[in-house]
Amino acid sequence: MNDLHLTRRHFVRGFTFTGITTVGLARSRVLATKTPTALPPIGKTPGVRQVGNASITDASEAAQLAVSLAQQSAAAGTFGVGGLLVDGHGRILAEAVNSVLIGGALYDPTCHVERQLIDWFTTNQGRTRFARDDLTIVNSLDPCAMCAGAIIRSGMKAVSVSEDTEAGIQAARNAGPGLEALKQQVSRHFAFFAVRGGRSQSGIINSPKLRSSIAEALVADAKQAVFASVADVRQTVGKDSNRAATPWQPVASMLSKIDELAARLSKLFERVGSPINVHRAKDRAQLWRVVAKSNCALVDSRGYVITSVKRDWSNAVTGSSVMNAVRLYTHLRRLAAEMLNIELPSSRHCSLIMHQAPHSEAEMLMELGAIGSFLECGFRRSRPGIPT
Ligand SMILES: [Zn+2]
Repeated sequence: MNDLHLTRRHFVRGFTFTGITTVGLARSRVLATKTPTALPPIGKTPGVRQVGNASITDASEAAQLAVSLAQQSAAAGTFGVGGLLVDGHGRILAEAVNSVLIGGALYDPTCHVERQLIDWFTTNQGRTRFARDDLTIVNSLDPCAMCAGAIIRSGMKAVSVSEDTEAGIQAARNAGPGLEALKQQVSRHFAFFAVRGGRSQSGIINSPKLRSSIAEALVADAKQAVFASVADVRQTVGKDSNRAATPWQPVASMLSKIDELAARLSKLFERVGSPINVHRAKDRAQLWRVVAKSNCALVDSRGYVITSVKRDWSNAVTGSSVMNAVRLYTHLRRLAAEMLNIELPSSRHCSLIMHQAPHSEAEMLMELGAIGSFLECGFRRSRPGIPT
């Protein structure tokens, strides 16, 4: 990783990346899992609203809507970022607010605007109705690494109102030599609006309606929306789950309950069965069996496997095992506390073990960005990239 020149800060948005381990390179398999009665489905795109027949007429209108959605996100107590998905004619297909926190609690670390819009589109609009490169996500803030990887993999474009010099993908483009192929992809997929009396348009904007300039005040509003939200989010995430519950103990009876609940939550969880510690030589065959089936195992600070998660083969863009683990563990942890009175370890104290490395640089970018959000450690330092 030393020659990537994409520093740790590019993979996180206000969180701290603490570690990832990759073991083996063998091809993983998917085995059929017998799933007990499922819990009510948990939304992957709770912040998305489909839009009827509305269109934007120019860049200012699109940017204004993205900033307005960012302000709505901040007012709801989550990261102040907003965005919309438009086609080549300027029609708005959907709009989205950030949903990392919902109702004052951590909901899903991957519920960023861009990831949600991509999943909404691939789930609801089919694969043939639109050419992907005809679709543009207009967002209030330069995308993070996770969303940038997802956008590249989706084939869509993105145009941003405001820079994020700390964690934005377009800041990483100028970070020095290394990952040239990925930087070229970033140049093709990401752009900034031109600002009247300020910056020129950067990057390629496909839709003619998005090529006009926007007012500087909109950029300031977009920055203010995210900056104003950070302190509240910091406080909420920092307090993360101090519930009085039975602590996690990796004994067979506890794992059995967790496995049962996980299977009810999603067919993507793979059963762990009995305690496995990655540091114990005698457990290695069992560890290999679990990660070969699932590709991604979640491990606590002592090295015990908590659960493992498979790839979603129906979702070619964001359905990797790591993305699913990041997305689903927060739900599993909440349900374990509510239904079993078991407090699973905070994600900040966990590591992920992968059976296979990511298949492409874009997938790597997406997964590292997601892990950065997952292994969050609160907000212990200021964010110099966001002006005060
Ligand atoms: Zn993001």
